Order: sequence, then C-alpha cells, then structure tokens
Amino acid sequence: MSKSASAMVLHKFNEPLEQREFPLPDLNEGELLVKISASGVCGSDVHMWLGKDPRLRLPMILGHEGVGQIAKLRGERHNVHGVPLHEGDLIIWNRGVTCGRCYFCAVKRTPALCPNRWVYGIMTNCADPPYLRGCYAEYILLTSNTDILRISDLIPHSKFRTPNSEFRIPNSLIDPAILVSAGCSGATMAHAFDLHSPDVGDTVVVQGPGPLGIFAVAFAKARGASEIVVIGGTPSRLELCRKFGATLTLNRNETTVDERRQHIMDLTDGRGADVVIEATGSSEAVKEGVGLVRNGGCYLVTGFGNPEGKVELDCFADISRKNICLQGVWVSDTKHLLEAVRLVIDNAGVFSALAVDKFPLAQATKALEAMRDKKTLKGIIVSS
Ligand SMILES: [Zn+2]
Ligand SMILES: [Zn+2]
Repeated sequence: MSKSASAMVLHKFNEPLEQREFPLPDLNEGELLVKISASGVCGSDVHMWLGKDPRLRLPMILGHEGVGQIAKLRGERHNVHGVPLHEGDLIIWNRGVTCGRCYFCAVKRTPALCPNRWVYGIMTNCADPPYLRGCYAEYILLTSNTDILRISDLIPHSKFRTPNSEFRIPNSLIDPAILVSAGCSGATMAHAFDLHSPDVGDTVVVQGPGPLGIFAVAFAKARGASEIVVIGGTPSRLELCRKFGATLTLNRNETTVDERRQHIMDLTDGRGADVVIEATGSSEAVKEGVGLVRNGGCYLVTGFGNPEGKVELDCFADISRKNICLQGVWVSDTKHLLEAVRLVIDNAGVFSALAVDKFPLAQATKALEAMRDKKTLKGIIVSS
C-alpha cells in the first residue's frame, strides 16, 4: 500500500478541483481506512462547488456517497449487524455521524435531526490532519462511531447464496457504482417512506424523475402501490421511471397543471392521490403537488436541500379542510441507508441505469460539470 492518497480538492468555488496528495494517516482505535471504489456526485455537490452552501470551510474534499473496501482497520470493528469487519470487505457507511446522546438521538430516536450531526464530504475540511474525510479521493478515513454496512451481508440468501456456502460473497458480485446512490438520495427517500408509507393498492404521484424520484418510484412499487405516476420534464428520465415501475408519466412541458390534475383525478375516481412525493427542489411544484393529494392523504417534501423560494397555500382549502399530512423530510438515518441498499441490490438490473456515467478520479471536475449541465442523471467517480 502506498504511503499517500490522491484526492480532488475544492480550494476555490467554481474553479476546477485540484489534485493533491495527502499522507495516509495512522489509525486510532476503531478507525477504518477505506479504499474508495466508487463515489457518487450528488446534486448538492454541484451546489457546494458553485459556492452556494454556507456550511463549507475550504479547502475540502467533496463526496458524501462512497462505497469502498477496507484497506486497514485498528482494533475490533463490527458492522451494524454485529459481524466483525475485516480488511478487504466491501462496505458502505452512513454519510452522517451523530452523537447518540442528545434529545433527538436518545429520546426521540430521530438521529437525522441530531444537532451534532456532521457529514463526510460536507462539514469536513482538508487543511489539517487527518485530511481524508471526503469520497473524491483514493482513500477515506472513517471514525470509530461511523455506522458501517458490509455489502456481502445484504445479498439475500435466495438470490446468490448456496445452502452450505461460507457466507462470504465475492465483492465482484455487485458493482459498487450502482450502490452509491443509495447513500444519499436512496436513504433520504427511504426516510420519506419510513415517515409515511403508501398502502398496498394506493396511488402514488412522484414529482421529479431525478435520482430521488427514481428511488420514490422503486420504493412505491416495493410497498405495493398500484398506480405510480411521475411528473417531469425530461422524456429520457420519464422513460427510465417506467422501467422502475411507473405506470403513467406526464411531461410537464406538454401538459398544463389542470390537465395533469385531471389525469390523477380520473385514475382515482375523483379523489386524488393517496401519497404525493415532491422530489424536485422547486417551490412551484409544491402548490401543484398539494392539489393532487386526496382528502386525508399525505404530501412528502423531500427535494429541498437548500432554500429555493416560497409558496402560498390556502390554509383552509389546501390543508385543514382536506385533513392532509404535510411531511417534510430531512436527510436520513442508518436504518434508511440499509433499506436503500437492500432495494438497490434486489433491483440491481434496473439500478445499473444510475451507474452509466463513470469518471476517473482525476476527472472529478468533469463529473461536476456534467451534473451541472444536466448531461447525466448521475455522475460516478470510480477508482482506476
Ligand atoms: Zn447528497
Ligand atoms: Zn445527537
């Protein structure tokens, strides 16, 4: 193993990332050094790169969606299933690290809301040791309190395991690149479904056919929704949603708000959808989305990672008279990461569509540009 790691550093907003070498750290008890196999480029990475996130302290290494192999560990480390971890294991980890002791962690059991939560590749800085806290790098150092999932433990027996096999699944069975989206958009959508799940036979409407919306379609299908309607503006993305299980797609550039509403009402005997999921990050979508929810239904707002404007709602007609649940969704917990990874593994064939545009580490800036220019649905940085 070399003594240093290459990483792409964000040193100035809206400028190409700079390739730098960092020394590999000595490990403290319980820490893991992970060789990154694949790192997802999230929409919020583009936002950060452009200087629109006030939380950042430069210089830093972006990347909060990583999958990799354990290169080194110090002491005994276990995954969330209580299984000891070994060098060579392919793992994914909760991008957020929480304190476990505050009101939100310990009393309300909602660690996503922990005020002490910090995130790899977002609230981290590479000016000082141990430097390697983001995924746009050859290696990342994970703290002893980071929650770890081992991929081979998540592959169902019925699919790949033979009855008497020694349950060590070869890492090569699953392409790490298809797992990265589970780390952020997948886990966030699992959180939404944890807060409010459709019933079997329900009608679900998804606004926005990006990675979040695609996970919404896949979870809705897995939870037994009968009708899954996706509203979006890019035909190729809507087509992809149909592969994931959407039963109807509506192009917002070819239909009016009233026409789309009529489609949903026709599908539901005039009631409206049981669950509507906002996955656009656009305030305009919210007014329309609330109008599509049936009386007593739920509107899940998942797409806002940053302030994106306001919306006017009629408190009587839109909310109380309809008795709707208006549910915001903020990031995710380890439970949600686990559910998202399982969903991807169970549907690996279709999810491979989210792992098409791969970039070597040195071209991380190109991956950000492709995401910024909407030339790819998902950019993935892979180790060469
Ligand atoms: Zn993200
Ligand atoms: Zn906490």
